[in-house]
Amino acid sequence: TEEMIRRSDKLSALGQMAAGIAHEIRNPLTALKGFVQLLKSQSPNHPIYFEIMLSELERINFIVTEFMRMAKPQTESFQHHDLAVITENIVSFMSAQAILYNIEIKMVLEPSLPHIYCDENQLKQVFINVLKNAIEAMSGGGVIEFKIKRQPGAKLKIEISDQGPGIPEDQIALLGSPFFTTKEGGTGLGLMVSYQIIENHNGKLYITSEADSGATVHIELPE
Ligand code: ADP
Ligand code: MG
Repeated sequence: TEEMIRRSDKLSALGQMAAGIAHEIRNPLTALKGFVQLLKSQSPNHPIYFEIMLSELERINFIVTEFMRMAKPQTESFQHHDLAVITENIVSFMSAQAILYNIEIKMVLEPSLPHIYCDENQLKQVFINVLKNAIEAMSGGGVIEFKIKRQPGAKLKIEISDQGPGIPEDQIALLGSPFFTTKEGGTGLGLMVSYQIIENHNGKLYITSEADSGATVHIELPE
């Protein structure tokens, strides 16, 4: 078969170090949590302080766990896939969630798109991360457009645009930096992972935004 499975060794040195550190953080965290629980049970005064400490520890744990999950090298599986099928799949999956917020995800696919050589699960992860951000940005509902067209130079161009508030110009350069988030409870990992995956496909990802007209995520992939 054409299937090619290989162990990813492409994780950057920085990514490997970060995953190692994340792992090392979890042990002391578990000890801290245990002692805070112990103190809480022994000091009836100010239980709220202990609650706050515990929930902050939980938050560190969540971020670290999420980071480890994403930075962990995974088995890659590159194959030729029909991008239209992958897109339809993800759009119908995410539409179930979007509809709850009065959001419609509209697909605009150029007919007879060529197949591309890609890791299906990784690409799906990128589309989910990007659509999730778009949904989270559109508190007032509206339409998300998911466009795919051919471009000169044997490239496919994907554009995912939303009708949210957009991204302030001074934040554009920060997108994709680990832990950059403007959301309460955000991880700031979704775009970092998405950039990494698209790079892994020899493609390009960039984000544009015009004041008050939403954000557009542009993805170029080689055919
Ligand atoms: P998270 O969603 O956990 O915050 P991401 O890496 O997915 O992490 O996104 C990082 C930040 O980029 C978000 O917190 C937000 O400020 C900004 N962002 C991403 N996508 C959009 C979008 N479609 N509209 C507005 N801001 C966005
Ligand atoms: Mg996100």
